[in-house]
Amino acid sequence: MEKLFNDSFENWIFDLDNTIYDIKAGLFVKISERITEYIMTKLSFTREEANLVRSDMYKKYGLTLTGLMREYEIDPDEYLDFIHDFTHPELKYEKQLKLSLKNLSGRKFIYTNASQDHAKNILSAMGIEAEFEKILDIKATKYVPKPDPKSYETMLKSFGIFSNQIEKSIFIEDTAKNLKPAKLLGLKTVWMENERNLEDYKENANYVDYKYSDLKSFLNDISNRD
Ligand SMILES: [Mg+2]
Repeated sequence: MEKLFNDSFENWIFDLDNTIYDIKAGLFVKISERITEYIMTKLSFTREEANLVRSDMYKKYGLTLTGLMREYEIDPDEYLDFIHDFTHPELKYEKQLKLSLKNLSGRKFIYTNASQDHAKNILSAMGIEAEFEKILDIKATKYVPKPDPKSYETMLKSFGIFSNQIEKSIFIEDTAKNLKPAKLLGLKTVWMENERNLEDYKENANYVDYKYSDLKSFLNDISNRD
C-alpha cells in the first residue's frame, strides 16, 4: 500500500467509538451493558431475550437503535441519553494525540452512529474536541446508520465533500463492514484492528486499504513530505 503523507488527503473522516479511543480502554463494554439494560427495562425482557433482540436488530438494521425504533417504537433521545454516560474515567487527556491531529493537514471530521453529546463528551475528555471541524451523528443522518449507503451520502453532503474530492478523502473505522460503502464510493479506508470485529473484517478485507492497531500508530505512520 502507498505510504501515507500529511498531504495525502484533504479530508480525514474518523469514526468515534473504538476508533478515537482504544477498544482496550473498556469504555465500550460499559455502553454495551447499558444497551442490554435499556432493552430489559424498557421492553420488559429478560437478559437472555434482550441479548437476542439486540443481536437481531443489529444484524437486520446495522444499528441496534435503528431496529428498536422501527420495530419497538422506542424514543431515540431517551435511548441515547440512557446508554451514554457523561463521565469517562477510562479516558485521559491526550496531549500527543492532540498534537498529531493538529499537525495533520486538511479537514478532520467525526462520523458516528452515536449521539452528538456522546461524541463531545469523549472528545473533550481527551482534549481533542477543537481538532475536528464537524461531528455528524445518528440524529443528523435521520437515524439511518452506517453501513446503509444513504448514510454516507448524507455524510459527504454534510461535510461538503464533492465528488471530485472523494479520492482525497480517507475514512478510519473499527467496524470493518462500515468501510465497504466508503470504499465503493471511492474513499480510502483504514481498519482499526480489533478481535471483536475479526469475522466482520474477514468478510470485508477487500474494502480495507490500511490496517493499524490503534489511532496513535496510524497517525505516527503519517510522515511529512520533505
Ligand atoms: Mg466504532
